[in-house]
Amino acid sequence: MPGRGLALALLAAASWIAEPAGQQNAPPQDAVEGGEAAGDTAAADDAAAEGGTTEGADAEDADAEDAPPEPPPDVLEIGDGLYVLPYCGNATLRVTAHGVVLVGDRLAQYRAEIARLLATVTDQRIAYELHTHRHGAEDDFAPAAPGSRRLGPALGGAPPREPAATPDIVFSSRLSLFPGDAEIRLRHVGAGHSGADAVVAFPDRGAVHAGHLVTDGPPIIDYAGGGSAGGWIQALDALLALEFDTLIPGAGPVLEKSGAQAFRDRLVTLRTRIEQLVRRGVAREEAARRLETADLGWPVDPDGDFVRETLPGLYDEVAGGP
Ligand SMILES: [Zn+2]
Repeated sequence: MPGRGLALALLAAASWIAEPAGQQNAPPQDAVEGGEAAGDTAAADDAAAEGGTTEGADAEDADAEDAPPEPPPDVLEIGDGLYVLPYCGNATLRVTAHGVVLVGDRLAQYRAEIARLLATVTDQRIAYELHTHRHGAEDDFAPAAPGSRRLGPALGGAPPREPAATPDIVFSSRLSLFPGDAEIRLRHVGAGHSGADAVVAFPDRGAVHAGHLVTDGPPIIDYAGGGSAGGWIQALDALLALEFDTLIPGAGPVLEKSGAQAFRDRLVTLRTRIEQLVRRGVAREEAARRLETADLGWPVDPDGDFVRETLPGLYDEVAGGP
C-alpha cells in the first residue's frame, strides 16, 4: 500500500514531535515542520475533546494529562525525502535520486520492517547504511539491505573490547556523502555513550540524527566499550556546535535542537549529584538509593539498565577510578 505510512505520518506527526523528555506531559507547543496536515491546535483540541463534556477546564486538563500518549506513526516525514521509522529504533531514511541512505543502530534486526516501510515512500533501494555508534563485540553490522555499503565511526586506539565485525568503511573525523542532489555529513564525536559515537547531519533539511547520545531514557554508558560521562558531554558539545533545527534522537520523539541542550544539562546535573554523593562518602552500592533523578525525567529503576550497567561506572568515573 504505497503512501500508507506517509498518510499516517501526516496525521500523527504533530502529536509525536514533542518537547524534550521530562516535559512530555505538556502538549506540544513548538512542533517542528513536517506534519503539515495536522497542527498543535488539532492535537490540543483532540485532547480536550477526549477529556469529555461539561466538567470545566480543570477537569478537562486533568483528563488530558491522564490520556495515554498517542502512539507514533509507522513513518514520520520530517522533511522532503527525510523519514523517521519510530518502531525501528528511529532508523532514518534519506531518499535521494541515487538511492536511499539509512541511518541508525543495529539496523539488521529491523531488516524486514525497514524494507516494508521503505516501499511505502520510494522505489529506490538502500545504497548506504550509516551506523551511529559502536558497542564493540555487541555490534551488528549484518547488512539491512543487500548490496548496501555500511559506514560507522572508527574505534579509537586499541578498543577495550574486540569488535565482532566492522563496517565496510570507517571514519575517524568527518566524512560527507553526496548521493544525487543530497548532502549527508558524518561527524565522529568521540566516545560517550559507546566506544565510538557519531552524529549524522542532513544540512539541506536542517536535521541531525544523534544516535544514542540523545534518547528519551536515562543515559546508558558503555563503560566496558570505552564510553564515559565526560566523553558524552563533549560529544553533545560537538553536536550542539552544528547548525540544525530538528533533532532525531536514538529513541523517543523527534525534538528541536534545544532537546540536545536539555539532555546535556540533565546529564551534567546527574554527574554533579553523584559527585556530591562521593564527597559525602556515600558508598557505590548505596548510590542508587540516595540518587535523586525523578525530577530529571529519569526515575531510578533498581533493576533497570541505568542502575546495573551505568551507575557503578559513573560513580567510579566521578570518584577517579574503581
Ligand atoms: Zn547504543
